[in-house]
Amino acid sequence: MPEPRCPVDCLLHDHGDGAYPLAIVLRDLFTMAGKAIPDNADLVAQVRKKFQDPHADIIEAFSNTTGVLQTWDALFLAAHNHVVVRASQGIRYAEVMFAPQYHGFQGLTPKRAVEAIIAGIKSGEQKCPDIEVNFLAAIGRELSPEQAIELIKVFEECDRNYLVGIDWVCDEAAFPPERHIKSVRYAHDAGFPVDFHASEWVRGPHDTPDFWRDLPQLVQNLNIAMRVMRCKRIGHGIALPYAPTLMRYALINQIGITGCPGSNLQGQNVPDLEALQITQMLDSGILWSMNPDDDFFQPDINEVYQACDRVYCFTAEQRMRMRLNAWKTRFGKRKPVPNDIAPLI
Ligand SMILES: [Zn+2]
Repeated sequence: MPEPRCPVDCLLHDHGDGAYPLAIVLRDLFTMAGKAIPDNADLVAQVRKKFQDPHADIIEAFSNTTGVLQTWDALFLAAHNHVVVRASQGIRYAEVMFAPQYHGFQGLTPKRAVEAIIAGIKSGEQKCPDIEVNFLAAIGRELSPEQAIELIKVFEECDRNYLVGIDWVCDEAAFPPERHIKSVRYAHDAGFPVDFHASEWVRGPHDTPDFWRDLPQLVQNLNIAMRVMRCKRIGHGIALPYAPTLMRYALINQIGITGCPGSNLQGQNVPDLEALQITQMLDSGILWSMNPDDDFFQPDINEVYQACDRVYCFTAEQRMRMRLNAWKTRFGKRKPVPNDIAPLI
């Protein structure tokens, strides 16, 4: 009997510059960027390999894809294609992330980068009207809070029907959440829903992976992002099941947790899938959803779901909660939700 497919049709944690759809147009993007492609080379496999070293610098790894996303046309194509591919995979809602700061190395301004992404999304939705895709504007946390605020000021001037929220991403170990208390406050005041990557990883690039050693720091970062910065959603949040006070807080305040088990395992940030305590969170009513993170170079969401299902043996109720939680905690609401979801959220 074939293994069950992932029930999730709403993606909230989906990096456009690390997503599977990019693989489809990678060769075109290299050509558009004027980059040489060795004859007969499996370009996708080559680029994929560069991401898979757990000790690699994350920004350096992403330069392999962001490097060919430096023009309006390239970002338009990536966003358009993202919509089309996700729709073809049965996804009905997605928030795709790009960080404009990584797309300006040839002079593209953040405003033009956002315009290209939104134009690409609109074009993709015209082709695939059953899906709703919005732009979750990412900020690489190595920026100073002041630089982040300048970016948010740009986001305020963009089409906010499509730019539905802001997420702080990248190196949590080097730049823990408290660095951005001020810029998150600015985003709140500007009316943006805030997502924040927190409790993903806290070890340096040369440290041995050890979830149990890192757990106190992972809890502390989660506490800052949830209770001090009052973020509506948390990306990863792998320490949550080990922090009863934060579990209660997340429940009372309806905080969404965008889980990415495939990413956590591949990055060696958890010793195994059991450590994520997924069913404990679902059964407690935590708004935890399953997401791909970067399925260009990580397992796709069906593989991740099946690996988790082998560990947790999800019940029908848990599967439904996983699906509903994503719909409940999405930031954009331009289109109607599927008929079987609408009465339940
Ligand atoms: Zn992420």
